[in-house]
Amino acid sequence: MQYRGRFAPTPSGPLHLGSLVTALASFLDARAHAGQWLLRIDDLDTPRIVPGAESLILRQLEAHGLHWDERTYRQSAHQDAYRQALSVLGARADIFGCQCTRAALAQRLPQGPDDAVYDGHCRGLGLEGPVLRFQVPTGRVQLQDRWRGSILRDLTTEVGDFVVRRRDGQIGYQLASAVDEQLLGITQVVRGRDLIGSSLRQQLLLQALGQPVPGFAHGPLLLDQDGRKLSKQNHASPIDDRCPIDNLLRALSALAQPLPEERPDSVPALLHWAIARWNPRALPSTDLTMGHR
Ligand SMILES: [Zn+2]
Repeated sequence: MQYRGRFAPTPSGPLHLGSLVTALASFLDARAHAGQWLLRIDDLDTPRIVPGAESLILRQLEAHGLHWDERTYRQSAHQDAYRQALSVLGARADIFGCQCTRAALAQRLPQGPDDAVYDGHCRGLGLEGPVLRFQVPTGRVQLQDRWRGSILRDLTTEVGDFVVRRRDGQIGYQLASAVDEQLLGITQVVRGRDLIGSSLRQQLLLQALGQPVPGFAHGPLLLDQDGRKLSKQNHASPIDDRCPIDNLLRALSALAQPLPEERPDSVPALLHWAIARWNPRALPSTDLTMGHR
C-alpha cells in the first residue's frame, strides 16, 4: 500500500516555526517513503478562521518548497460524508445527546491526560442534544505510535465520551478528521505530540465506523520561554517567507536531523538533501524550548 500522508492546518493565522516543524516532519516522512503528501485545510471551526489566512499558509508552504500532491482539500466541502458517518454511529447507538451546560461541565469534569473526561451524565437519557457525544466502550485503548511505541489510555477514566457534534451544530473535530483520513486514503498521520489524545479518539471512531485506521506518529513540540506550545494563540511570530532556507535549517535542527556542512544554494536542494537523510530515530523525545533570537 502506498504511503499517503497529510498536513492539516487550521486557517486561523500564518504558519510559525512550530507549525513549520510539524509540516516538515510529515513532508520528509512521506517523501522518504516515496509517498504522497496531501494538504487539507481544517476550516470547520469558523469562529477561529481568519480571512486571508488560508492563502497565506499556501504561499508559505510553497515558499518553503513543501509542495503537496493533488488538489487542496477543505473540510467544509465534506459535510455530506460527516453527516453520513454520524448516522452510521447513530444506527449503532454509539452516540447520545448531551444537554450539560458549559458551566456544569467546567465544574464537574476532571482533567484527563489529554482533555476533560466526561462522566457519562447524559448517557441513556434519550436526550436530543444539540451536543452529540460518542459513547466510549469500557476497557483500554492502545495506540501504536511509530516513533513513541505503545500509548495506553483507560477509556472510562482517561478518555470519556467525547463530542462529535458541537453546540453550534457543527461536526466535531475528532469525527471530521477521522472521516477525512478515510476519505483521502491517508495511511500515515504525522502530527505534534499535543494531538495524541485526538489520534486515540479518531482511532476509536474509525474502528466504530468499520474503517481502516491509519498509522500514527507524534513529533516533538516547540515551546516558548514559559513552557507553552508555540501557537497562534500565544502570538508566535509568523515565519518570514523571505528566508526559507534559514527557516528550514532551524526546523531541521529542532527535529535533530543532520544539517549540511555547507549552506545549500536552493530550497529544493536542501529538501532533497534532507529527505535522503530523514531519520525519525534521531527525533528528540522531549519538547524543545526556543531561545530568544
Ligand atoms: Zn451531558
